[in-house]
Amino acid sequence: MALDIKLLDIIACPVCKGKLHYNKAAHELVCRFDKLAYPLEEGIPVLLENRARLLSSDEMPS
Ligand SMILES: [Zn+2]
Repeated sequence: MALDIKLLDIIACPVCKGKLHYNKAAHELVCRFDKLAYPLEEGIPVLLENRARLLSSDEMPS
C-alpha cells in the first residue's frame, strides 16, 4: 500500500517537528535533520522515535 502523498503535508518529525521526506525505495519517511527514517506499516506512518532507524550519511537522500 502506497503512502498518501497528501499526508506528507500534515505530518512532521516527532523529534524536531520538521518536514519528512518519503523514500519510495526504502518505503520510509526520512528526517534529514535528525537522520532518522520512520517506517510505514500498511501505508500508515509510524512516527515514533523509538521505532525510527538511524541513517548513515550515505543513505541520506539528496
Ligand atoms: Zn526530525
